[in-house]
Amino acid sequence: MEHFTKSFTRQEPIPEEGIAAAVDVMRGGGLHRYGATPSHVASLEEEFAARTGAAHALAVASGGYAMGCALRALGVGPGDAVLTNAFTLAPVPGAIAAVGARAVLVEVTEDLVLDLDDLAAKADGGAKVLMLSHMRGHIVDMHALMAICDRAGIAVIEDCAHTMGAAWDGHPSGRWGAIGCYSCQTYKHINSGEGGLIVTDDADLAARMILLSGSYMLYARNGTAPSEEVFARHKGLMPNVSGRMDELRAAILRPQLRDLSRQVARWNACYRAMEHGFRDAPGLSVIDRPQAEAFVGSSIQLLADDAARLPAFVAGCAARGVEWKWFGADRPVGFTSAHRHWEYVDRHALPRTDAVLSRLIDLRVPLTFDLEDCALIARIVVDEAERHLTTAKA
Ligand SMILES: *Cc1c(COP(=O)(O)O)cnc(C)c1O
Repeated sequence: MEHFTKSFTRQEPIPEEGIAAAVDVMRGGGLHRYGATPSHVASLEEEFAARTGAAHALAVASGGYAMGCALRALGVGPGDAVLTNAFTLAPVPGAIAAVGARAVLVEVTEDLVLDLDDLAAKADGGAKVLMLSHMRGHIVDMHALMAICDRAGIAVIEDCAHTMGAAWDGHPSGRWGAIGCYSCQTYKHINSGEGGLIVTDDADLAARMILLSGSYMLYARNGTAPSEEVFARHKGLMPNVSGRMDELRAAILRPQLRDLSRQVARWNACYRAMEHGFRDAPGLSVIDRPQAEAFVGSSIQLLADDAARLPAFVAGCAARGVEWKWFGADRPVGFTSAHRHWEYVDRHALPRTDAVLSRLIDLRVPLTFDLEDCALIARIVVDEAERHLTTAKA
């Protein structure tokens, strides 16, 4: 019986260029962004804005911080309703809770994207903001989503933790709504351990977020700072909620950002190899990727026909070194949790989402895997599916 022995949590090393830049930062002792001239953080902001085509970018301490900062900048406060996906990672409802707001969960479909009918139904419930999570890199029809939100006067924040480098209909993920938020946590598309990036075209929102992040009176040193007149409208009104990125992280992120397109191509080659193999697994289906979606295959999901049989299949794969995460578990495990585990969020009836999550399994696709690894994983998955998921058992 074949076994897979590589780790699903092993990332690639930081590029040598980044290591050298980080060592220089440490030798100089100037780790604070506003103490460094020139600043890696300010350069990263310029480079990220240029890459996404945004007028302004801000580098911060985490993806969760980025989302909280975006919510505050839009004026969301205690008691306010914020629409968001029922299927996402815990930092998303966490960022909403961090500003004292109330998450209103919207159903997701079998394609793992926001259910636009449920969004339309909930859009006139008083929420002024949608925190749209492109969970696991699946992008909803952004033209249709923006039409619903624009009609209802709802501002959109995009959570692009899994879509840095992705696009819908040729337009980058994170550039459809008012604000785009990204994570640079180790398991995302560029890795500084922890870290986040924010983009917007709106100069007032940019100024508010730069001030919020803890710029003191040094705000003009942001890599893509709006003009002094814009800051004059917000100075003194924004509390300092410290969450700046430091020089060390920006130093290691800059070469990774330059390399992102090549990495995306490698992720997608691995994804397509696994997807091709998984199509032969009985009782499991791959999720179709729409034509308009240019995704980053840094993880892959399957839906089982029969949720009840999944635990045996997942255990069978695990015994052979293939680590599926199952979103139907009754307790949170590792990084994986579901909306019913977020006890600080109001209880929601989400039958459609629950039916999807009970059948949903997820595999990380680290770039430390090559195409042979992907083929081996696929063979193990097909074999275990034949063992545990076939209807006509011998
Ligand atoms: C990782 C992640 C975030 C942000 O997480 P941080 O760890 O705070 O950077 C946000 N949304 C999703 C879906 C994520 O997976």
